[in-house]
Amino acid sequence: MDAADIADDLAHVLLTSQQVSDRVADLAAQIDADYAGRELLMVGVLNGAMMVMSDLTRAMKSHCYIDWMAISSYGSGTQSSGVVRILKDLTTDITGRDVMIVEDIIDTGLTLSYLIQNLRSREPASIEVMTMFRKPDAITSAVDVRYVGFDIPTEFVVGYGLDFDGRYRNLKDVATLAPHVYS
Ligand code: 5GP
Ligand code: MG
Ligand code: MG
Repeated sequence: MDAADIADDLAHVLLTSQQVSDRVADLAAQIDADYAGRELLMVGVLNGAMMVMSDLTRAMKSHCYIDWMAISSYGSGTQSSGVVRILKDLTTDITGRDVMIVEDIIDTGLTLSYLIQNLRSREPASIEVMTMFRKPDAITSAVDVRYVGFDIPTEFVVGYGLDFDGRYRNLKDVATLAPHVYS
């Protein structure tokens, strides 16, 4: 098999890494202001939130803690399965803590509403959600998302932590895939 550049597989770039990083800086400043004097526990949802967690927390000026969960949402394709399962739980006790869920993308919101319900039962002091990307269908799920990077169209995108079948997470930009990738 020939080694191919990621760029050869892209249809179009939706957001450049510069646009993403500018927006992350805005959100970090907003979070710093909103949580002044408090210490957040940032809960990242693996694997997609790896990039946004890394960039967002480094752009924040205030102290924070970082922990991770892994839950199943999509399988290897692009369709939501509706099946949510905890593959890796937090190592932190969140009781009485100010929690921020850090998500890569919200599509139907199925995954997120399950997660919020699960974390609420552990009685944190507060729980808010930050997502880098959000699709229009998310509007129909009654999930209150406090911080949104970008509202994007209903298209399957990759990059900035988002994968297709495990690949493309390391693409700096956010892009759609060329048809040949799917066939
Ligand atoms: P939801 O439960 O909101 O429908 O789906 C959320 C999860 O589905 C995300 O965390 C992500 O793993 C996956 N997902 C949803 N839309 C996209 C997309 O456009 N691209 C990629 N790579 N993953 C997506
Ligand atoms: Mg996610
Ligand atoms: Mg995925």
